[in-house]
Amino acid sequence: MGDERVEVETARPRDEATGRDAEPITPVPASPRHPVSPSPRLPVSPPPIPSSDLRVLLWDIDGTLIRSIKTGAYKDYTIPVLEEIFGTSGRLAGMRVSGMTDLQIIVEALSEEGFTHDDVRDQIHHLSKRLTAEAKRITGSGEPFFELLPGVTQTLQALDDHPRYHSALLTGNIEPMAYLKMDLVGLDHFFKLPGAFGEESHERRDLPERAAGRINEHLQLDLSPKQFVVIGDTPNDIDCAKHFGARSVVVGTGRFYSTEELLACEPDAWVKDLSDTELVIRTLDSL
Ligand SMILES: [Mg+2]
Repeated sequence: MGDERVEVETARPRDEATGRDAEPITPVPASPRHPVSPSPRLPVSPPPIPSSDLRVLLWDIDGTLIRSIKTGAYKDYTIPVLEEIFGTSGRLAGMRVSGMTDLQIIVEALSEEGFTHDDVRDQIHHLSKRLTAEAKRITGSGEPFFELLPGVTQTLQALDDHPRYHSALLTGNIEPMAYLKMDLVGLDHFFKLPGAFGEESHERRDLPERAAGRINEHLQLDLSPKQFVVIGDTPNDIDCAKHFGARSVVVGTGRFYSTEELLACEPDAWVKDLSDTELVIRTLDSL
């Protein structure tokens, strides 16, 4: 029987003397060379899994998924809008804004000019509209404005295909700006769940709880904080995850913090970038 060898190798081993089935072999735990994560080629309708196995990935944008080709682009479209609305952009030009929410950036930029948190909040919808319009104008020239960081598209695709993972945005960007950026780089379709955005709070720490509340409502589930994973490139990303009780993965693709500075904040995991999809999935599987 020519097929027997194949059967022996792929199914149960046989006792060579008797030809009978040998005792079943205890399965060996998967080694790192045999990733436990399914391949990206999953069935179209993945089988439902228990909600306790689900994980929601809360993605930062800048420095994690994309970066502006020109450093300081954020200030290029924000400074004229602040000058138009408040008559000044305060100290924005000299600030390091990475990891801050847009609301926090604007409040801090204008505080020495006598504008309060409430003054800025009162203008937030107008600000949001004008910032988005200005960013659309600047980015609408056809010239590429943002670039994808390594491996982002294939890693988001593999996670999108994976039954355990769902993706949402958790970013300091105001919501229309976040989706404008995702649209410009072709990532918008990966973020099907509601997220949390930079116009909502002065504190990034407030955002995971807001995102989780919306996601639980959307999915009609009661996922615990530990089932959320914040993925970002700054100490503030790690801090907001810890504050909520979520897990955190920090990526080394941001421009402003060294690996040592990031590791000192004790994230649950660090990856250099998102280029090794299997490594990213193994890392997330281990949290
Ligand atoms: Mg970032």
